[in-house]
Amino acid sequence: MKKRRLPLDHYVQGVLAGNRAVLSRAITLIESSLEEDVLLSEKLIEQILPYTGRSLRVGVTGVPGVGKSTFIGSIGNLILDSGRSLAVLAIDPSSQKTHGSILGDKTRMERLARNQRVYIRPSPTGKSLGGVAAKTRETMLLCEAAGFDTVIIETVGVGQSETAVKNMVDFFLLLLITGAGDELQGIKKGIMEMADLLVINKADGDNLGRAVKTQKELKKVLHYFPEPEKDWSPSVMICSAHTLDGLNEIWSLILDYEEKMTSNGFLSNNRKDQQLHWMEEHIEYLLHQRFYSHSGILWELGEARLKVKEGEVAATSMARNLVRRFFNEKE
Ligand code: GDP
Repeated sequence: MKKRRLPLDHYVQGVLAGNRAVLSRAITLIESSLEEDVLLSEKLIEQILPYTGRSLRVGVTGVPGVGKSTFIGSIGNLILDSGRSLAVLAIDPSSQKTHGSILGDKTRMERLARNQRVYIRPSPTGKSLGGVAAKTRETMLLCEAAGFDTVIIETVGVGQSETAVKNMVDFFLLLLITGAGDELQGIKKGIMEMADLLVINKADGDNLGRAVKTQKELKKVLHYFPEPEKDWSPSVMICSAHTLDGLNEIWSLILDYEEKMTSNGFLSNNRKDQQLHWMEEHIEYLLHQRFYSHSGILWELGEARLKVKEGEVAATSMARNLVRRFFNEKE
């Protein structure tokens, strides 16, 4: 049976007290698309907002199989050893709840998941990236209000979701592996440009030599990527999430970054920009959602699609007409 929703105060107090059961229920509330839940979650976010922003937000991306879960499991232990706490969230619009990239790989994070200072939440389900991203963002805020001082957001590096993650984190890490003849694994140059650090994973056993070679090649490529406004040049490191080689260096570099970006003001300016961007993105998402669930529009869309398909009406003028009708504007 579905649990009933709690009064707003219970969510707020529970989350701020770091109560994990309430935190989980608050996230479930946020993930719900029921109108009453959405309205209540907006109030909840407003109330906890003053207690957010106190974590280091790290994004980890890479193609499936590159070792993201294993890497997060291993570096997560270092993060805990340094005295911090950790929330791990995922953005994967293609995932189903039971097959979420994190839940499915829970064994890879088993030790981590048992720790009381760790909270792991799989990707919310949803059809649109905009919706999934908004929910992950709010989940991140809830985790911060609950006292987690490090948040890792994992995403599968195959689509648009990297940009969504980049727009919600302070530090963006791209995980790679060496592969014969295809060192960049189809990763678009744009995604490499977004990264604050590139890490070649699985640098162990027979693979070590190849990993070092790829590291050198990538360093040459990266040379051309400017990073002016924050005075940070992305580097290329190698590691093994299995043997743990290189992980200490990676975590130290992330901490250096945090310190530097805090003192030069980039971190807080970047977050201000991100907040603005979230609002604009959410406006787009809400408009899109309302438009496509508007009964009048739905009624007309079928015929409109046919006419446009057959070339009877130009696509742009049909779009303009529909939008006019949606807003009840005069012709
Ligand atoms: P994800 O899909 O990116 O999350 O990748 P996983 O963490 O599920 O790892 C995919 C496979 O690579 C698994 O079989 C892991 O055991 C293996 N793997 C992950 N990291 C390493 C590593 O550092 N070295 C080696 N040799 N294998 C690794």
